[in-house]
This record gives sequence, C-alpha cells and structure tokens, in this order.
Amino acid sequence: MVVNTLRPRILGRTITQVRLLRRDIVEPAGFDFVAQVQNCRVADIARRGKKIVFSLNGGHRFYIHLGMSGRLTVDDAALPVAKHTHLVLELDRGGEVRFFDPRRFGGVFWLGLDGAADAGLGPEPSDLTPAVLFAQLQRTRRVIKTALLDQKLIAGIGNIYADEALFAAGIHPRIPANALSRSQAARLCGAIKRTLNRALRHKGSTLRDYRDANGQPGDFQKLHRVYDRAGLPCWKCGGEIVREVIGRRSAHFCPVCQPERSENRA
Ligand SMILES: [Zn+2]
Repeated sequence: MVVNTLRPRILGRTITQVRLLRRDIVEPAGFDFVAQVQNCRVADIARRGKKIVFSLNGGHRFYIHLGMSGRLTVDDAALPVAKHTHLVLELDRGGEVRFFDPRRFGGVFWLGLDGAADAGLGPEPSDLTPAVLFAQLQRTRRVIKTALLDQKLIAGIGNIYADEALFAAGIHPRIPANALSRSQAARLCGAIKRTLNRALRHKGSTLRDYRDANGQPGDFQKLHRVYDRAGLPCWKCGGEIVREVIGRRSAHFCPVCQPERSENRA
C-alpha cells in the first residue's frame, strides 16, 4: 500500500495498542519498542524508497523497512491476522496497521529523536557501490556484523540478511568493519546485492508455496545458507555452521569459509 493511501487512515491517530508478534524484527535488538510507541500519536508518515518513516508526537521516529516481500496495510480489526504478520499497531477510532513480511528481510527500525527527515540514515542496499560501502565501513571499528545492522551506516539490513551476505562474501562476522580491505568491501557489496536478488527471484514461488502449504514455512528456509542452520553442514565446504551471539544478536557463520585470521583472508 502506498503512503498516499495509508496517510489519511493513520495521520493524527493514536496508537492505542502495540502487538509485536516477532520480537527479533526490531532494531536495535532489545529496544522496548512497545513501551515507546504505545499511546503516541502519528504526526507524520512518509515513504523513502523501501522505508515507511513514522514520526510520532514528541519527535521520536521509527521506520518499517518493507524488504523484499513486506506489506503494510490498514485493516479492520475484525479481519483475521495473516500468518507472517509481525507487527500490529491498533489505532483509536478503529482499524489497525499491519506489517506482513513472509521473508523477514524487512524490519522495524527505531530512530529516536535524531535529526530531520532522512538525516542519519545510511544508503539503501540497492544504492551501494563498492566505494560507498568501503567508505561507510571505514567510519567504525565495531565488528562487521554489528556495523551492517547499524541503520546510520546502511539502512534496512536485518539480521538474516547480514548473516547471509557475510557468508556469501566469505567474511567472518567479528572482523572490525574498518579492517576490511577494499576487495573485501567489494565482495561484500556484491554479496548484499546478490542476496537481495536471490530473494527477489524466489519471491513468486515462495509466496505460491506459502498459500499451497496453508501457512507452512514451505520454501523460505531453503534460501538460507547459514541463518538458523547451526550444527548443519555448510553448503560450500560441508563443515559445521556455528551460532554465536555478537552484539546481542545471533550470528550464524561457517568458521572455515569465513576465516577470522587475516592471513587466511583473500
Ligand atoms: Zn564452509
């Protein structure tokens, strides 16, 4: 649904109840989104690319990134909530905003009081070039996994996306972002775009499977090379995928294909 359609149904309404059906779609992790948003009035709503930016009375902002398959609708509260609906914002005077995202490449990103409009948001993945990504990564010494989830560096990369892109690029999630070489940044840039395109190509069959299977996860997990595959064999080398907590988020990777020691890095 385009913002022009959403706007008259949401603007000036108070969010009376927040139902977060999947906690792990919220960035930063552990942030109490429900408490912050409940009882706030929607002062403005704007679309920037794949991001729907909500401004609340009091000046706080957050955005919903639609990712590959995300949809934002305003529905009658009496209608059943579809599977893969991750967030419901109940509005005063009826109706509720629903965020549906079967592939979970999208997410809900808290911005707080930071600046105006788009200030503070990094470039979209689709706008990245190797040079832009390298420059963004030079700005932080945090580990690359954490940096990829920072909306001020690159906007709209969620946890699954970050794990899959790092695996595709053969980059260990704990390498400091500013220690990546230009060639690694270029590989990572390509991997982010390929991950995105792969998701796009699979979108049709994925959604068809979803309907046929009557709510079963169906084909979704087949796209994941590392995410949610701890203990299973790596698609490239047959070694074991591991899961570690990095920056309070789960990280999934192959220690063989994504070496941490610099002499092993290409
Ligand atoms: Zn491997």
